[in-house]
Amino acid sequence: MTTPTVRGPDTARANADGRRGDGDGESRAHVVVIGAGFTGLSAAWELARRGIAVTVLEADPEVGGLAGTFEVQGERLEKFYHHWFTNDAHVNDLVRELGVADRVIYRPTRTGMYFANTVFRMSSPADVLRFTPLGVLDRLRLGILALRARGVKEWRPLEHLTAKEWLIRLGGPEVYRVVWEPLLNGKFGPFASSISAVWFWNKLKLRGGSRDRTGAEMLAYYRGGFAALADRLAEEVVRLGGVIRTGEPAVALHVRDGAVTGVRTTRGVVEGNAVLATTALPIFADLVAPHVDEPYAKRLRSIDYLANVCLVLELDRSLSSTYWLNVNDPGFPFVGVIEHTNFEPAATYGGRHIVYLSKYLPEDADLFRMSDDEVVDYCVPYLERMFPEFRRDWILGAHVWRARFSQPIVVRHYSRLIPEVETPVGGLYLSTMAQVYPEDRGTNYAIREGRRVGVQIGESLRRSPANVATTL
Ligand SMILES: Cc1cc2nc3c(=O)[nH]c(=O)nc-3n(C[C@H](O)[C@H](O)[C@H](O)COP(=O)(O)OP(=O)(O)OC[C@H]3O[C@@H](n4cnc5c(N)ncnc54)[C@H](O)[C@@H]3O)c2cc1C
Repeated sequence: MTTPTVRGPDTARANADGRRGDGDGESRAHVVVIGAGFTGLSAAWELARRGIAVTVLEADPEVGGLAGTFEVQGERLEKFYHHWFTNDAHVNDLVRELGVADRVIYRPTRTGMYFANTVFRMSSPADVLRFTPLGVLDRLRLGILALRARGVKEWRPLEHLTAKEWLIRLGGPEVYRVVWEPLLNGKFGPFASSISAVWFWNKLKLRGGSRDRTGAEMLAYYRGGFAALADRLAEEVVRLGGVIRTGEPAVALHVRDGAVTGVRTTRGVVEGNAVLATTALPIFADLVAPHVDEPYAKRLRSIDYLANVCLVLELDRSLSSTYWLNVNDPGFPFVGVIEHTNFEPAATYGGRHIVYLSKYLPEDADLFRMSDDEVVDYCVPYLERMFPEFRRDWILGAHVWRARFSQPIVVRHYSRLIPEVETPVGGLYLSTMAQVYPEDRGTNYAIREGRRVGVQIGESLRRSPANVATTL
């Protein structure tokens, strides 16, 4: 049980008691945002900047959502590994506008691939040409595939293709078998064969575009962790008069005459002229189902998600010099080994070396349900096989994090599945990571969409002041 935390003026407490609580007279609009991840916070910021009273409700004890952190040796670290790409324009805009651009660190990173019991470096075009598991012709095909993928500007013609069909078309069957198939299977498991070409194209475009002039990958990180930026955004919301209430999940929507009037939480009712939901679609579907017709609720549930388990190890020494190691071995239970301290130095974490082992999986998978100790016991033997020098006594600390809705499944013709931002309920909006398509989920797009919907709600309230007067 978490202790609810209220940041900002105590206006929303008044709402929780059932009274009107914008603190600024009868006519001021009030928006309730469900979820304090980057989408919710960015939307709240845009609203607060427009002088609109906003209350953000967050189920977790902290803001940040999937980019949330925990502490290692007094320093904040993401529960799930996080970095930005150099071409993440919306993050760059945000940090500039918040005056914190100097906290973004850009560094070269080393990428590798674990295949046939060997770690291959895959950081630059030259590494691709040295990738011996493929014959010379296929190495060239792999290099050209990456370039051709980045050259694709229009994604719609790819919508009818699966990633498999498209990747074989671009690079041939052997490149697919060695490089892409294990990655697709490792990441998407039972959904691998239905993943859209658009999803894969996006990954190649994004990652391929985050490079310096030599072709080496460059990534970005926020000093103090991603949650430090989420905190900065939350501070701004509060400074502008908004309220952030953590440890207080939304449990129901209040709707009258087809329009939303507020949100019931575990502590009371927060009234509002408009409500923005930023939770995963299945959570929103449960909240909205009593107020919409069956086909709409069904449509919300038509997008599947994978869960994620991340084992975060604090080690007394480094595992390897690779930051991002793709595991292209179907016998291994994780899809990536991410040695975070090959990006942000171990000195930041009191000299501890941080390694993430990541696995995407259906939420009913055994690994998702194991206890923390069982997850460690399950994973360590694989690490020992992968890094023969590794010994269990290198582990100084282990943490297991689970996210139930971590990756929407982007299938063919996904654009037909995406729900609109405006819902059938008046004043109720929806903006989630399942709607950023053709992009894939990421804080950059959460910021883009959050800001966009914040502006949209603000404009809509400005255009219909009558709504402000009558709905409350
Ligand atoms: C393993 C992993 C690695 C990732 N790596 C990166 C990366 O390197 N770079 C990057 O940019 N992005 C990365 N991401 C993606 C990124 O974290 C998300 O895209 C982004 O944080 C989404 O933000 P959001 O606000 O849309 O959703 P979320 O962060 O999911 O926020 C939704 C919020 O709603 C809250 N909530 C849920 N139900 C309720 C309720 N009933 N009432 C109130 N609140 C509720 C949740 O607690 C959560 O805080 C990664 C994600 C994962 C899982």
